[in-house]
Amino acid sequence: TKWVYTFGDGAAEGQAGDKNLLGGKGANLAEMCRLGLPVPPGFTITTEACNWFYANGRAYPEALSAEVSLALDHIAGLTGRKLGDPVRLLLVSVRSGARASMPGMMDTVLNLGLNDRTVEVLAADSGDARFAYDSYRRFIQMFSNVVLGVDHEVFEEILEDEKAQRGFELDTELSADDWRAVIGLYKAKVEEELGNPFPQDPQEQLWGAIGAVFSSWMNARAVTYRRLHDIPEGWGTAVNIQAMVFGNMGDTSATGVAFTRNPSTGQRALYGEFLVNAQGEDVVAGIRTPQNITEAARIDAGSDRPSLEKIMPEAFASFVEISDRLEKHYRDMQDLEFTIERGKLWMLQTRSGKRTAKAALKMAVDMAAEGLISREEAVGRIDPASLDQLLHPTIDPKAPRDIVAVGLPASPGAATGEIVFSSHDAEEMKALGKKVILVRIETSPEDIHGMHAAEGILTTRGGMTSHAAVVARGMGKPCVSGAGSLRVDYRSGTLMAMGSTFRKGDVITIDGSNGQVLKGAVPMLQPELSGDFAAVMEWADAIRRMNVRTNAETPADARMARSFGAEGIGLCRTEHMFFDGERIVAMREMILADTEQGRRSALDKLLPMQRSDFVELFEIMAGLPVTIRLLDPPLHEFLPKSDEEIEEVAAVMAVSADKLRQRTEALHEFNPMLGHRGCRLAISYPEIAEMQARAIFEAAVEAGRRTGKPVVPEVMVPLVGLKKELDFVKARIDAVAAAVMKESGETIDYLTGTMIELPRAAVRAHVIAETAEFFSFGTNDLTQTAFGISRDDAASFLETYRQKGIVDQDPFVSLDLDGVGELVKLAAEKGRATRPGIKLGICGEHGGDPASIRFCEQVGLDYVSCSPYRVPIARLAAAQAAV
Ligand code: ADP
Ligand code: MG
Ligand code: MG
Repeated sequence: TKWVYTFGDGAAEGQAGDKNLLGGKGANLAEMCRLGLPVPPGFTITTEACNWFYANGRAYPEALSAEVSLALDHIAGLTGRKLGDPVRLLLVSVRSGARASMPGMMDTVLNLGLNDRTVEVLAADSGDARFAYDSYRRFIQMFSNVVLGVDHEVFEEILEDEKAQRGFELDTELSADDWRAVIGLYKAKVEEELGNPFPQDPQEQLWGAIGAVFSSWMNARAVTYRRLHDIPEGWGTAVNIQAMVFGNMGDTSATGVAFTRNPSTGQRALYGEFLVNAQGEDVVAGIRTPQNITEAARIDAGSDRPSLEKIMPEAFASFVEISDRLEKHYRDMQDLEFTIERGKLWMLQTRSGKRTAKAALKMAVDMAAEGLISREEAVGRIDPASLDQLLHPTIDPKAPRDIVAVGLPASPGAATGEIVFSSHDAEEMKALGKKVILVRIETSPEDIHGMHAAEGILTTRGGMTSHAAVVARGMGKPCVSGAGSLRVDYRSGTLMAMGSTFRKGDVITIDGSNGQVLKGAVPMLQPELSGDFAAVMEWADAIRRMNVRTNAETPADARMARSFGAEGIGLCRTEHMFFDGERIVAMREMILADTEQGRRSALDKLLPMQRSDFVELFEIMAGLPVTIRLLDPPLHEFLPKSDEEIEEVAAVMAVSADKLRQRTEALHEFNPMLGHRGCRLAISYPEIAEMQARAIFEAAVEAGRRTGKPVVPEVMVPLVGLKKELDFVKARIDAVAAAVMKESGETIDYLTGTMIELPRAAVRAHVIAETAEFFSFGTNDLTQTAFGISRDDAASFLETYRQKGIVDQDPFVSLDLDGVGELVKLAAEKGRATRPGIKLGICGEHGGDPASIRFCEQVGLDYVSCSPYRVPIARLAAAQAAV
């Protein structure tokens, strides 16, 4: 096996297609070299070496050290520089890089190779002692933190003290001698903490850093990130070792990050930030607030600090040219890292940039119009799950705004919540069911948990590419960053803004689309599909094969789903219709009646209410298919619980409260999920199913007359395991249908079918299909019954399962393809064998999950049905699955 791939000076052993082996960073560094771009030479140790490392008790493959030596010779051949050399000194960065980018999750060490001796070489070579010592102290800090495990705050404290003593504000004010003093204190501190001096041998440093990058694959931050983004542990990370270039060599040097288009809006204009006389992560870490790259962006932002375009016009011009080239080459928006060393531009990274959903849509539509990509590719470019962001509310433009500060519009959408100042508090409050805004000076990877728990994130420091901004955009959470006029005091737990003071628990609103921070809660507007969104949806609709329906029972949901493009209702859960006001009383009366007669008289009260529900739904759906599920949950869910409720029902029924209590107890079940529910109810109490069927058919006649569009209801019998169960219920339904047709003198086309939600039903689907005219896969229950777990109780141990690597994903979120999926596939095949053309759909939560939708396409289902807000996601995912 070859463990090391070199790159540099117009050539490389790897290329962009080698992401699995070289990681995204390594593969793209190689590709940029092949394109002849200025990239400091280096080499990549493969992800296979990382996997070998973990498979062998954190040891290295034997051949690795020789390959690394040769690769260092390769750098020496191109630069004339060597690690530890007394004249032509080589310093390197050691950078992690997995297949998928994991921003800020992994650790990087810069300036490796510096020690008490080589720092003098660097000073002499560069003619700049301040620069040399600045680089050395950065190295000690990073190496000690990443490789030796020393908390970086101990260094911050030393530096803050030294600056305070000298009356300095900025790091750049420190002279060579000041840095020398800081370095002395740093080294003493490391020795105090570890009992060993800071390592001086460059080889020891190098291998320490390689081991640390491999080890960082398993650090808590990385593990959390992988879990949140479904990145398999088995991918491993590559290590990139690359000759250093220096953005901290004085005022003709700089470092920056940029996007070839605006990652927030999608606007076609180079967008980025830089810092003069700075290195590496200074921009991202938000240590100083960075400057705009282009004049246009500077003017837009109203900044009085000069742009790169202005102060380094030549480096800027070559950067513009290179970014154009990279965007055309990769045919996608690129996220770039660069450094300018004494006026010379170096490229350090390119990758397809993360973007907001809004920007993704605009870029896809623009790039299709520019001819850069096809419409199909444009549809493929949008992450369906990300559309969720656009389906979030925005602040009503007519609402009064009490603006207390304005920061950067780091991630769009608006959010209201109570202030918390720590990630810990964010999680705790969220667990109590509160909505919170996480307010921090800046965020770090340790805050991922809190950011997840929060509705939105507000920081007082850092730019559009700060940690908070990048991570929030990735999560689709509103974020305002760098709101510099705010003062956060963690100790006293206060946020000061223009004279007013906010405390933990006070409500604020942030608008991530314009950077505003507002006092209190503000009215929000619901999202609409228009512009780029509508265009992409239209293209998606032209591509997809499956229909997309919605799960809805209220008129409001049904209307919303229609406006999002739903093509019918795949699941109308009738039980939800019985909880309102007088209905629940009639329902309880029905359940608690001892006799069929008693039940029928209560059902008579429910019939007109139920009928009017259906008329409204049918009208909204105007001829589109509507699947109505007969009553499903165990009856005890409707029972009165408090004494008051019991007395109310007792009065209506004219029986004693005690008698009712007895009946209530009699209905108690130990495992209601596996109890008296679904079609079992219809078999015990056929009059319930008959009432529902009558309501459906009468409503179909009425709505058909009103809209002029015939309604074809699909009556769905839940929890069938035996064909005879379905036969029994279907006979009642058919009898009611015949009666209603006779009474109304109209013919009603309807289908009777069942949910497939028991393994037995899946296995016997060929027999059940003799009666069933359609199947709808109820994958929530099918997952419960296939695994033998209850959704309500599984959360605790499923989390443990995930942590221990037993399952990758929550099977209630993404369909378990191997098990539950296999049952779906089997039932679909068996159903079709008996009844070719049997209508097949899915109505579990999975109907809105893109990975599950892909599976539904493969199995050849006719439609997926999901909650209204997920309809656009499903439309897009169905299109992507069809390609
Ligand atoms: P991340 O994946 O967190 O962005 P990187 O490996 O890209 O980590 O490096 C962190 C920072 O250090 C980036 O700003 C990068 O541009 C900079 N950097 C990495 N290698 C070099 C190098 N050889 N010379 C100068 N700067 C570097
Ligand atoms: Mg990093
Ligand atoms: Mg980077």
